Amino acid sequence: MIDDDHRASRLTADKRPELQISFEFFPPKTDAMEEKFWESINKLAPLKPRFVSVTYGAGGTTRERTLRMVRHITSDTGVPAAAHLTCVGASKGEIDDVVRGFAEVGVKSIVALRGDPPEGIGQPFTPHPQGYQNAADLVAGIRKLGDFDISVAAYPEKHPQSADWDADIDNLKRKIDAGANRAITQMFFRNADYLRFVERARKAGVTAPIVPGIQPIHSFKQISGFAARCGASIPDWLAERFDGLDADPDTHALVAAAVAAEQVTELLDEGVTEFHFYTLNRSNLVLALARLLGRRPD
Ligand code: FAD
Repeated sequence: MIDDDHRASRLTADKRPELQISFEFFPPKTDAMEEKFWESINKLAPLKPRFVSVTYGAGGTTRERTLRMVRHITSDTGVPAAAHLTCVGASKGEIDDVVRGFAEVGVKSIVALRGDPPEGIGQPFTPHPQGYQNAADLVAGIRKLGDFDISVAAYPEKHPQSADWDADIDNLKRKIDAGANRAITQMFFRNADYLRFVERARKAGVTAPIVPGIQPIHSFKQISGFAARCGASIPDWLAERFDGLDADPDTHALVAAAVAAEQVTELLDEGVTEFHFYTLNRSNLVLALARLLGRRPD
């Protein structure tokens, strides 16, 4: 039974180690989407995130937009911006120029990724002939260019292309050893998968923070599609909770809030103090979750 003291200790900042949160956005494609993007950033900025990150489209397709967004976040909101960067379809020289471009606009944080081939995650990855081979190689390259804060990806259910758990954890260790400051996980819906993954990584000597990536389910249909594409599984109990709610957005929204609240408060109880939220450029659910974690707008 959770009593009032327990609830208060979950929420009271002075009773637990400092909470760190970060938010992930994607670069908007249209003017209307851009308006929504800034509206959400402006609502979330007062929560004082460690950074707001902006993704990098497959094959560098959003290079200009990612750069424009991180530049404006840095100059207009006072919140540190992090730029995602992948190895796909570019030589080391081209990628190094992108990194220098980030530095020139004041971006000091990079989420360094291998990326996927344009055909999708299931397809084998062939590096550019003069390019970085994988994320670990990219991290080492970025380290040579400056004093960046670097995050890398981790997979609580194993990356679909890792032969086994040892290969997966070895790869994470290579990325950290190459100079990454932390790992951020792929979305997951079973906290036990995340906790087991952290335990495996710790046993293998990975000491860097492994920040859970939390995906609020704004639309079960959309998120289950994303999950299938990135190799994250949807447990039956979760599908059951949303079953039949496609035509009932109000109940869907309430269930989504309850599911995400359960996930983050359980992680908090497990001692997790850093969270990364996949916002899909929306602020409402994430604002509520941050509040449950004890973080309010400044
Ligand atoms: P890596 O860590 O390089 O590993 C990929 C796979 O290759 C692993 O299975 C690994 O075991 C294997 N591997 C790596 N090196 C070797 C080696 N030397 N020998 C044998 N096997 C090896 N994608 C985007 O396109 N844009 C984004 O902005 C973006 N943001 C993301 C943010 C987060 C937090 C996460 C979790 C993922 C993101 N992705 C993004 C998706 C990511 O690009 C894919 O998951 C991709 O398939 C793997 O990228 P990685 O950086 O994990 O690759």
